Amino acid sequence: MSADAGPGSGALVLFSGGQDSTTTLAWALDRFERVETLGFDYGQRHRIELDCRVKVRAAMAALNPAWAAKLGEDHTLALDALGAVSDTALTRDVAIEMTEGGLPNTFVPGRNIIFLTFAAALAYRRGLKHIVGGMCETDFSGYPDCRDDTIKALQVALNLGMDRRFVLETPLMWIDKAETWRLAERLGGRALVDLIVEDTHTCYLGERGPRHLWGHGCGTCPACELRAEGFARYEAARVSE
Ligand code: ZN
Repeated sequence: MSADAGPGSGALVLFSGGQDSTTTLAWALDRFERVETLGFDYGQRHRIELDCRVKVRAAMAALNPAWAAKLGEDHTLALDALGAVSDTALTRDVAIEMTEGGLPNTFVPGRNIIFLTFAAALAYRRGLKHIVGGMCETDFSGYPDCRDDTIKALQVALNLGMDRRFVLETPLMWIDKAETWRLAERLGGRALVDLIVEDTHTCYLGERGPRHLWGHGCGTCPACELRAEGFARYEAARVSE
């Protein structure tokens, strides 16, 4: 959009290779003139997610020439210290499992605060104004660092602490998983929906698993259940239209 054109109007997208961050990347490519991506490697067992990143980026560029022209560098930052403060690392005899709040016990408290802070440091160096993340309050109320208030407070802290005017963008904040599928269709047509189904990875357990209608994954962890349930509602709404 012309209002966003010009120096310093580029965006840095937190891109994990999952459904949400892929939809978020499409949103940014639709909106900004230059888009770079950032992934974090912190020894998670979701190596499969990191492997998906390269494939998804290439597929999105192939999908739309305008997106290919805007898609800039991909960055990966190693944050090994995050793995060191996960529950499973602190107590090595604990298996990875879901906690009562529906979070895997590998979850690191405040993880997104750390991610966004590193993203801002990188955006500062790269001259990018917008920092875009797939945080969502609607489905993941268990993650306090995904809440809108957390993101807004962090934006203020980062702008004060770095003397910049970063804008933290969270296009998925108030929509649910069915609406996230619909947003993908609106941005990239059915081809983008198909790409997300086939190539992205969301499963908490890092399982590629069989190909379900909604994509790959174990099918039973909370992330797979959300994705499957959202896809079913998205498809049902399409049929009834
Ligand atoms: Zn799963």
